[in-house]
Amino acid sequence: MPIRQIVCHAAECDLCKQRLIVDDGELRLDTPEQAADWALGNEWTDLGGGRLACTASDAAHDDARDAAALTAA
Ligand SMILES: [Zn+2]
Repeated sequence: MPIRQIVCHAAECDLCKQRLIVDDGELRLDTPEQAADWALGNEWTDLGGGRLACTASDAAHDDARDAAALTAA
C-alpha cells in the first residue's frame, strides 16, 4: 500500500490555539484561504494580519475582537 504525505490547512485561533471543529472533526482544507473562509463562515473573527479568533468568550478573546473591530472601523 503506497503511503503519501498530504499537506492540509486548519484554522487555528490565535489566542487559545483551538482549531476549527466542524461536525465533530477538525476541519482540514487544501489551502490557507479555504481554511480562513471556513473559519469566518463559522463566526470566527478576522483579527487582521492573518490571525483568527475562535468564538470563545473570555477577556482575551473579547479584547482581541474589540481591537480588530476598532482597526477595521
Ligand atoms: Zn480561541
